Amino acid sequence: MVRQQIMGRGIDDPDIVEAFLATPRHLFVDEALCGRAYSDTPLPIGWGQTLSQPYMIARMIQLLGLRPGDKVLEVGTGSGFQTAILARLAGAVYTIERLEPLARRARENWRHAAVSHVRARVGDGSLGWPSEAPFAAMVVSAAAPSVPPALLAQLAPGGNLVIPVGSAARQVLKVLQRTESGARVEDRDPCAFVRLIGREGFAE
Ligand code: SAM
Repeated sequence: MVRQQIMGRGIDDPDIVEAFLATPRHLFVDEALCGRAYSDTPLPIGWGQTLSQPYMIARMIQLLGLRPGDKVLEVGTGSGFQTAILARLAGAVYTIERLEPLARRARENWRHAAVSHVRARVGDGSLGWPSEAPFAAMVVSAAAPSVPPALLAQLAPGGNLVIPVGSAARQVLKVLQRTESGARVEDRDPCAFVRLIGREGFAE
């Protein structure tokens, strides 16, 4: 998975590669899906949600431009796999999941995978985590109709927000870098994520 799907597509940052090598993806899916855990696809995790394709997770993390010690916000915990990768690269990871059963399962997954320095809560991540702001970096793992202003407001100057923005069917991965006066925005890869459902996302 790492050699072909990640390094083979140009993501060769040794820290990202090492984090993937150290994080067994099969611990984050149902036993029945273990045989497909290292395939080049998203995988179902229940409640209509998915664990994203490995390359897409690596790409979003590459675009975050993390530095050791960074405080990161992740919106859309899902299985907790991406959280586990982030936890190996950042100083502290804060993650929000809307669906309580998924959040509970993610905690179990982190216990099995010995993941530490993660703070998790259930709620509407489109509003961010104001009491813990500012964050040095933010990644949203679900598709938003537009960039939630609350997230941008909680991003530290110079920090990056990576978020898929578009329709429910197709989006573009945007990178927003917080500046003194607002944000510098770049459109990167086309993508297709499940919807961000919440006050500053899609309606349920
Ligand atoms: N990266 C995750 C992983 O490693 O398993 C997969 C994330 S999955 C593609 C998107 C997740 O976002 C789903 O679990 C979904 O329930 C969650 N979600 C959707 N809207 C949300 C919101 N407003 N706040 C928090 N989580 C949300």
